[in-house]
Amino acid sequence: AKYTWVEKDTCIACGACGATAPDIYDYDDEGLAGVVYGGDDNTGNTEIPEEMYDDLQDAVDGCPTDSIKIADCPFHKEG
Ligand code: SF4
Repeated sequence: AKYTWVEKDTCIACGACGATAPDIYDYDDEGLAGVVYGGDDNTGNTEIPEEMYDDLQDAVDGCPTDSIKIADCPFHKEG
């Protein structure tokens, strides 16, 4: 299983991840990215389906600040 979470403290609101993986990432009022898939609200607790793994990895690889995290267990963040 894979889970993802955005470290907003280091996100620079560049817009890359939402363009690469719009089903997984979207932006808050400040333009900072967060995980929206399945209503995740950037808690990192929603399992990302296997068919989205390519988009997920592309988004991680494309983030200029390494703010997109991936793990095989839930992040349990507060969003
Ligand atoms: Fe933020 Fe990285 Fe997404 Fe750019 S690609 S908006 S820096 S999380």
